[in-house]
Amino acid sequence: MLRLFSSAILLAALLAGEPVDWLYTARFVVTMDAQRRLIENGGVAIRADRIVAVGSAADLAKRYQPRQRLDRSDAIVMPGLINTHTHAPMSLLRGIADDLNLQDWLTKYIFPAEAKNVNAEFVTWGTRLACLEMMLSGTTTFVDMYYFEDKIAEATKQAGLRGVLGETIIGFPDPDSKTPADALKYTEAFIQHYQSDPLIVPAVAPHALYTNDDESLKAARALANRYKVPLVIHLSETRHENDEAMAKRKMSPTQILDSLGVLNGRTIAAHGVWLDAADIAILRKRNTGIAHCPSSNMKLASGIAPVMKLLALGIPVGLGTDGPAGSNNDFDMMEEMNLAANLQKVATMNPQALPAQQAIEMATIMGARVAGLEREIGSLESGKRADLITLCLDRPHAVPMYNVYSQIVYALKASDVQDVVVNGKPIVRDGKSLTLNEPLIIQKSQEYGARIAASIRQK
Ligand SMILES: [Zn+2]
Repeated sequence: MLRLFSSAILLAALLAGEPVDWLYTARFVVTMDAQRRLIENGGVAIRADRIVAVGSAADLAKRYQPRQRLDRSDAIVMPGLINTHTHAPMSLLRGIADDLNLQDWLTKYIFPAEAKNVNAEFVTWGTRLACLEMMLSGTTTFVDMYYFEDKIAEATKQAGLRGVLGETIIGFPDPDSKTPADALKYTEAFIQHYQSDPLIVPAVAPHALYTNDDESLKAARALANRYKVPLVIHLSETRHENDEAMAKRKMSPTQILDSLGVLNGRTIAAHGVWLDAADIAILRKRNTGIAHCPSSNMKLASGIAPVMKLLALGIPVGLGTDGPAGSNNDFDMMEEMNLAANLQKVATMNPQALPAQQAIEMATIMGARVAGLEREIGSLESGKRADLITLCLDRPHAVPMYNVYSQIVYALKASDVQDVVVNGKPIVRDGKSLTLNEPLIIQKSQEYGARIAASIRQK
């Protein structure tokens, strides 16, 4: 009798399916896996922090017994967006000085405002504001370079976002380091602290060639390689940067970095606007990842990055917002996909350049490659971390829909982001943050704005 009873329980359990924590279903699942599967009436099953299965909703419902489920019959589920270049706390300097070139913007406005205002508390609130904006617009991972990076890491973890974070190493006294040697020491302690964190990937972040000496750059690479973490740097953002390098050393910035060995290891190079064929050959050889920032490059009139040439050679190119102080003014990755696609079309006078699906690749799986995280994130596949977003499809600009990829890049907006899950954990539901106090962050940001405006008025 007892035996019969336990067999009945076993049978019932088998019929009910394997237990999972979450089942998300939607009208379309955009996987961005190797086959670029697009599943109509699909779903994603999640256990703890990982994806267990991706497939048809009917099939998953048979195979799995979810503890919780979310059914979005009029939405797209896709991988979370990966922003490969930010300076998160600069959100508090949003729009402080606009319509200027990079050199004037940096030296006349940003560096002085930072010198007067940036401290640990500024960085904490700035990162909270940035994380709030990023999660509400569908970003699940961002690659950052700023100061007080330990505060950025704390605020990022509190938000529940994933961050590849590096303390800026720069050749003059900055808000939390007097010398590049101090910043390197800080970075090493930061790496040791976050080495095996589920959300934070520590990085080494020398600001640029033109703001660091050779010794600091070499030490940064050595540190990154010693701990097997990525190196984040700005590269050939402006023509001025290239002209200066040529005048001083008769080599391009890429050639100089390569001659110093700085590109020997995982590198996330932001911008890469002024790259010639020789530079591109070097980047290919070193498998350097490029963070393409179309908004920033357009707004600062930096130029147009040779994205089609980089992609044709298999160099990983992700998308980044940069900023948001004056080089972009927001963290909207939906907008960057749209601009990246349109900018290459107008630059090459070819409407087929950078089609929609490729723009989505740059914001997801290729962004993951740029960051060296392609085994963990960037696509919806079993075994990967559960980082996903849903985009609702019931608004006027979202109907009708003939092609899912085109709709995402050319019609949908950041405000269509409905739900966000990072590392298996829901952090946005129905367009509202579940982890951050939105009214408080908005109020604090306005207070900071008034204080910072007053600080730059007094000389
Ligand atoms: Zn930048």
